[in-house]
Order: sequence, then structure tokens, then C-alpha cells
Amino acid sequence: MRRFIWIALATLLLTPNSRFLYAEEGKKLKVVTTMPDFADMAREIGGNHVEVESLTKGIEDIHGVPVRPSIVAKLAQADVLIELGLGAEHAWVPALVETSNNQKIQQDHKGIGDIIVSDGVLPREVPQDLSRKEGEQHPQGNPHLNVDPSKGKAMATNIANGLSANAPQYAKDFEANLAKYLEKIAAKEKEWQAAAEKLKGIKCVSYHRDMIYLVEYLGMTTIGEIEPKPGVPPSSSHTAQLIEDMKAQGVKIVIREPQYSEKLPNDIAQKTGAKVAKVAVMVGGHPEAKTWIETVDANIQALLEAAGVK
Ligand SMILES: [Zn+2]
Repeated sequence: MRRFIWIALATLLLTPNSRFLYAEEGKKLKVVTTMPDFADMAREIGGNHVEVESLTKGIEDIHGVPVRPSIVAKLAQADVLIELGLGAEHAWVPALVETSNNQKIQQDHKGIGDIIVSDGVLPREVPQDLSRKEGEQHPQGNPHLNVDPSKGKAMATNIANGLSANAPQYAKDFEANLAKYLEKIAAKEKEWQAAAEKLKGIKCVSYHRDMIYLVEYLGMTTIGEIEPKPGVPPSSSHTAQLIEDMKAQGVKIVIREPQYSEKLPNDIAQKTGAKVAKVAVMVGGHPEAKTWIETVDANIQALLEAAGVK
């Protein structure tokens, strides 16, 4: 009998997540997200059972959010942290999570409250070696899949599963809300695919290499970026080459993400006869678009306008 008790006790202590399972009936789950996109989805799925806050407003550079003590305080209080993953937030989130000393949200799923929206999604552009010669910001492949209209389902499902693991008493509600949300996305996808027909084959460039998933969804192609490599500031020689390539290939659109100054994209557009399209890399980049679905709408609308095929 004593042996049994010891085994039971050891199992309880060694099961990494069991001690931190959130299970208080009637209390709201405190959810913190790295991007407003995931905050919107967590509200859709969590309904009345969650209290949600995004650590960013949507015009920051997700690879380099300034470290603030207020972020640590929010992480310390959180039951759940929802992040993009694939190393996108590696410059700021890991150190702040460690400082928060909150065991529930320890990264790489060490804490049950760590929800990674890119789980199970195969990233593009995974580096072949570890030298980081392609820049520091995309160490595990291109992480900007939240702008891809076809990834909404995977992101929302990961969020719903993560919330259910943390508050199993509400799992049925989360499942029902997820089903409703996925229906909304499916209805919008018909519109987005119709827009894609109009944009097919159009060439563009962007400031940062964050548009590959959206551009591919729309049947467009991207021929380069204003940044020579992710996170490397523009140089005059690279800009001159980009302008030449754009002229040679008939590029019609310069995508300007709202976190960057519009000066250089405007100059490049003027020299090449292209049009500038403001395309948000996170919810919040278009002030009027409050949700992930509205942001996808606004992004596609901006591209249609710039392409002159509205
Ligand atoms: Zn990036």
C-alpha cells in the first residue's frame, strides 16, 4: 500500500502539467497573446469564459517588440499565453516569460498554458543550415502564416484545443464556438477566392519577407523585398537592384506593412510606376479592421485597389 502511495505521489509530481491545470469553476481564464490576431480568435472561441489581452497593438515589428515591465506583469498573471511560434517572437518573449516565473506558460509546451498557433503547420523557407546567414529573424522558417487566409482554421483549432486543455470544464462551449467561427471563415473564403481570381499572376515586392503565404494564396508572386534579408535594413545598392528587377519584371505593387515608414516604398513605387498597397501583417495594421477576418478583407481590398482591378 505504501509503495502504491509513493508511486501515485511521484507520478503526480513528475507529470509536467498536471499541477498547473486550470480548473476553477466559474473563474475566467486569463489569456495573453503576442498578436491581436490571436486575441480576436481567443475571444471568438473563449466567449464569456476568457479575459483576453494582446501584448501588441498591431503596428509593431513582431520580431522586435520593445521590452516593457508591464509585459512581464501581464505574463505573470496569465493562465494562457498564445504565440505565433516558429521563433517569430524569439527576440522578446522567451526572456520575458522566464522573468515572469510563471510555470503555466513556459514555452515549447513545457507549461500547459503555452499555446502555439503554428503547431502542425508546415512552414516555408526552413533554413538548410544553422548559420543564420539569411538573417536572424526567421530561424525556423517563414513564420508569417497568420496573414494567410487559408490558415485561419488551423490557428483557431490550435487555440480551441489549447483553451480546452486548460479549462476542460468549458471544452464543450469552446468546441461549439470554434465550429461557429470556422463556418464564418469558410463563408468568407468564397469571397477571398473570388478576389484571388482577379489578382492572379500580379507581381509585387514587400518591405519585409512576411507576405509569401498571402501572395501564394492569391496566386500572386513576390520578386523581392526592400530589406535585403529579414531584419537587415535597406541599403542603397540593394534598393537600386530591386528597382531594376521590378522594371525588368513589370512589378505593379509595392506592399508597405504599417510598421515601416512609407517613404522608401513610395520612392520605389514612383521610380517604377508601381502602386503602394498598405497590407497589415497583424490585426491592428488597418485601424478600421478590428478582427482577423476584417484584416484579411482589408488586405485583399488594398491589393485589389493597387492592382486597379477592384
Ligand atoms: Zn519576419
